[in-house]
Amino acid sequence: MKHVIALDVGGTGMKAALLAQDGSVLFEARRPTGREHGTDAVVAAILDFAADLADEGRGRFGVAPLAAGVAVPGTIDEENGIAVFSANLGWRDLPLRELLGERLAGAGGTTMPVALGHDVRSGGLAEGRLGAGRGVERFLFIALGTGIAGAIGIGGRIEAGAHGYGGEIGHVVVRPGGPRCGCGARGCLETLASASAVSRAWAEASGDPDADAASCAVAVDAGDPRAVAVWQHAVDALADGIVLAQSLLDPSTVIVGGGLAEAGDTLFVPLRTAVSERLTFQMPPEVVPAMLKDTAASLGAGLLAWDLLSMEVTA
Ligand SMILES: [Zn+2]
Repeated sequence: MKHVIALDVGGTGMKAALLAQDGSVLFEARRPTGREHGTDAVVAAILDFAADLADEGRGRFGVAPLAAGVAVPGTIDEENGIAVFSANLGWRDLPLRELLGERLAGAGGTTMPVALGHDVRSGGLAEGRLGAGRGVERFLFIALGTGIAGAIGIGGRIEAGAHGYGGEIGHVVVRPGGPRCGCGARGCLETLASASAVSRAWAEASGDPDADAASCAVAVDAGDPRAVAVWQHAVDALADGIVLAQSLLDPSTVIVGGGLAEAGDTLFVPLRTAVSERLTFQMPPEVVPAMLKDTAASLGAGLLAWDLLSMEVTA
């Protein structure tokens, strides 16, 4: 069975799979990233995991994986296969594609092609081809987690922009002069509508320091007016961001994933209303939940590996 390695490196955990050409998962595994042991240990853990996955593939299918796709957070130079910077994992200008290629080389010196991708764009790619965006020509993928990230899907691929920052909807300013963002600006969408922002606001409003976005959603469903106010504040900011994106990109579908999207209709019903209230001339997008949950980036990394192989065949 022809297969590729798919690996998503997150802040705390790595998710991996062996992926067939049609995107079906042949094998799945997870491991901790080991960030607490330092950057060198993280890199070693990535290389070890990839090598073990290659062994797993050989053992199961009698042939080596044809390629590997690895998705990492932070700033990525996809063309040159360099993990430029990750605040979370501590590396700078890490030649990850080269390191993986060396580690995964066969006994006879045969090299394995390696694709390096950005975690959120890889997740968006997978949602577009295998998940909520299947069959959709133009979509916007938004992940509401610790921060807010996004990916612009066009014709089966993700538009990364000229410098790799395309789709960063989390840093669109929706409340000028608003809360200070990690990027240095004020009032960025992620300071208002990320899962972390909702957790902070709900902890403050409820007086419970352990309150989080999930408990806020439960309180919204129970009709707690303080929770409803916190929730609507985030929904309004998110709707402003989506409408801005709609004016610029005109996607037919907006796919919303990440921790906050786990709230389901508690998020999507008021969000769809808030978006449609704000539209003037723009055509309304379909606002739908992501389907692939936390395996999206890993699946997307595998798709990048398959794309790399098809490019090599046509080149
Ligand atoms: Zn920002």
